[in-house]
Amino acid sequence: MEKHQKLGLALIAAGCALAAFCGLGLYYVNHRDTMPAMAGATAAPAGTPVPTAEPTAAPNAAPVLTLIGDDPLFYPAQPGGYEDPGCTAIDDRDGDITAKIECAADVNAFHTGEGSVTYSVTDSDGMTATITRRVIVTAADRPDTVTPEAGTVYLTFDDGPSANTEHLLDILDAYGVKATFFVTNCNEDYTWCIGEIARRGHSVGIHSATHDYNAIYQSEEAYFADFCRMQEIIFEQTGEYAKLVRFPGGSSNTVSHFNPGIMTRLTNDLNDMGYAYFDWNVSAADTASDATRYTVIENFKESVPKHDYSVVLQHDTNAFSVDAVEEILSWGIKNGYSFRALDLTSPAVHHSVAN
Ligand SMILES: [Zn+2]
Repeated sequence: MEKHQKLGLALIAAGCALAAFCGLGLYYVNHRDTMPAMAGATAAPAGTPVPTAEPTAAPNAAPVLTLIGDDPLFYPAQPGGYEDPGCTAIDDRDGDITAKIECAADVNAFHTGEGSVTYSVTDSDGMTATITRRVIVTAADRPDTVTPEAGTVYLTFDDGPSANTEHLLDILDAYGVKATFFVTNCNEDYTWCIGEIARRGHSVGIHSATHDYNAIYQSEEAYFADFCRMQEIIFEQTGEYAKLVRFPGGSSNTVSHFNPGIMTRLTNDLNDMGYAYFDWNVSAADTASDATRYTVIENFKESVPKHDYSVVLQHDTNAFSVDAVEEILSWGIKNGYSFRALDLTSPAVHHSVAN
């Protein structure tokens, strides 16, 4: 199980110098790296009262740790990872020593399952307390999928926005058609187009911020760090977080082979988090080296009639693929097809996961 640790900064940002009140009425300055407490007394700043003798009081009671929030804690699976509500520590001599708490987490918030967070703290007499919270990661709700009418076509465009995207939006507007854009942050000159895509009524989904296979498929953490970065850009541009996803290379990709099983884990993670990922059952094959506007149109006309409904893959980073859309729409509408944007209720067109 991959560990994921992300804890509230306040919990682990214990100050390097804590003023601790001693029961004998003397102040000591305790340094985390010079524990126990008395060793730190020599490092007290000028003006701080210094004891003339070691205190001789009997060891005090252990500190009392109190969890903030529930135990067990039910936590919805999410791409941002796990953040614990925290814990407090009170000691009968040292007072509030919350800042001295150390914690260890073993929670994977990317999918359903159980984990734990353990807090421990040691007071100035060397008395230690420990407390553990159970964390139960739960699956998010998702609406049921609805089978579309026969002849429904979902045009989808990956890898943009780009210099071609605004022209594509104008073509779609001219035909009153809505489509789906799985966006990246690969061309920041056109980031603004993400907002324009949403304003014109199309669906915006997450493709990848970097589209760097070797980086994003290193681990679940790496994938979801990139995912959250793209999600924030989409939110800045549209005011909403996307719920639709397409994996770079598709869910059946083998470019992630260097990390066995990563696509199996990621597809399960997205399902648990309530996202809908989509592959395609019609490829315009517009990334082939010999692809042209003509081959894109021919691929569409040949493949779409073979399916009750089609999720078509194109790339709006290719000008000739965008130039093919006008004829695709006029031919499709003339032949009784209806074009729609994907949403959470759309049928899951999935490839077989190969890794
Ligand atoms: Zn792509």
